[in-house]
Formats: sequence, structure tokens, C-alpha cells
Amino acid sequence: MQVDLHTHTTASDGELSPGDLLALQMDCGIELTAFTDHDCLDGWDQIASAPLRLRGGPRLVPGIEISTVWMKTEIHVLGLQFDPAHRSIREAVDTQRLRRAERAERIADRLDRLGIRGALEGARRHAGEALPGRPHFARHLVDTGRVRSTEEAFRRYFAHGKPAAVSLAWAPMEQAVAWIREAGGVAVLAHPLAYRCTRSRLRRLLVEFRDAGGVGLEVAMPGLNRDQMRSLAQFARETGYLGSSGSDFHSPGQPWRTPSQIPPLPEGLRPVWADWV
Ligand code: MN
Ligand code: MN
Ligand code: MN
Repeated sequence: MQVDLHTHTTASDGELSPGDLLALQMDCGIELTAFTDHDCLDGWDQIASAPLRLRGGPRLVPGIEISTVWMKTEIHVLGLQFDPAHRSIREAVDTQRLRRAERAERIADRLDRLGIRGALEGARRHAGEALPGRPHFARHLVDTGRVRSTEEAFRRYFAHGKPAAVSLAWAPMEQAVAWIREAGGVAVLAHPLAYRCTRSRLRRLLVEFRDAGGVGLEVAMPGLNRDQMRSLAQFARETGYLGSSGSDFHSPGQPWRTPSQIPPLPEGLRPVWADWV
């Protein structure tokens, strides 16, 4: 089964609308998917209020990607297959939204002090219906000729220690897992190798995520080499984690992160979606 449980739409920092993303997923042969927009459920709400008639399209389950903090590191937790109307998950969205809005203002202040005026408005234009975040500020910096690419914007302005790097008081990792579980969902650790942890720190993260109630690891994703996938799968088997697969799709302009590039889940791993289909 072709499964993509990690995607972004225009509800957060993705470039495709929920409907266009489902159409792309269908073209890629994806049968089960979730919009895991950053700290928001707007993509799900849009589709739920105006269901698409997409014959042969993928089945959509509720999803979210919650930004959290664990030992001073930003850790992303995917919530899947929860009750999207549940009080806990809506509380998660509201709390995180407030934090995001505060950060956007602080980033704009920093840029203003660097002589870059109107950044909040510029970022808002790119954000559309979403709350402005760093990728939107990055696009504004490209527009104004400050940098040539969004990558350069991150490197020169938003990376750790750079002038517009604003650290955020995200929810503790355990809190995010609790929100998801209370709403009846499963918590999956997103892109476990993206946190630049040493091996022993990663091990500790995986143990503490499991102890907090996390049940899945994102193992099958584009961009991991065989060895990386093998060692993640090995760890998942040892510790009883379920395996998840996802593209982390944001934009058709990033062909290295598209649904069609998701490798199969390694053998011997129980898929996180096993009970849903
Ligand atoms: Mn993103
Ligand atoms: Mn992420
Ligand atoms: Mn993501």
C-alpha cells in the first residue's frame, strides 16, 4: 500500500491547496494520506466542509505536525487519526497559533532593526490564509532582493545565531503527545534523523518519546539512504515502535520530497496505519 502521512498544504507552508495536493497524491498512486500542516487543521477543515469528489483519490485521515521542544531542541511530532473536533487537539492548535503569531512579530521586529521594513506585511502576502512563518519571511527577503534564494535567507537570517533567529517557546514534546492521545490519535516522531543528534542523544529521544506515549517513528521517507533507514528500522523493531511513511511534501518545486519518492516501509515493521485500513 502506498502511504504518505506527512504533507503540507497552503494551510501552513505548503504551496498546493488541499484539493490540488490530493490530486497530486492520486497521480502518484498514494492510497492513504494526511495533511500534517504545522500546528493547524485548516486543510482538514476545508476538505471536511466541502468534500471533494475525487474518484480513485487517496483516503484522507486527520493529521497535524506539532512543533515541540525537547532538551532545547525543536522536535516535530506528527499526530494522526485523532478526532479532529476533540477539545484537546483544538487547544493544541490555539496554543501553538498564539506562539506562532508572537514569533512572526518578533522576527519582523528583528528585520526592521536590520533596515528591512514591512517584512510582516510581505510575509503575510506569501502566507495567504496561513500564519506567516519563516518560509514566508524568506520569500519576502527574496522578493526584496536581500537574498537570491529562500535557502540563503535561512542561512543568513534565520539559522541559529543569525540576526533574525528567534527561538520559540514551543510546547514540551510530552505535552504534544498528550494532546494527540487525548484526542484519540497516535503520535509519530517526524524525521528522526533531522535533529542533528549524536547517536546516544537520538537513542535517548526515541526512548523518551516512547515513554511519553509516542507509538510511531517516521522511517520511510525520501532522502534517507539505505543505512539510515536500516538503522531506524532496527531501532523501531527493538523498541516496538510502529513504522510510518511520508514525503514531507511542501512544493512541486522540491522534487526530492515528493510522494512518488517515498521508499517502501522496511520489512518486519508494523505500519502505523495497520488498524485503519
Ligand atoms: Mn514546513
Ligand atoms: Mn518537520
Ligand atoms: Mn513537515
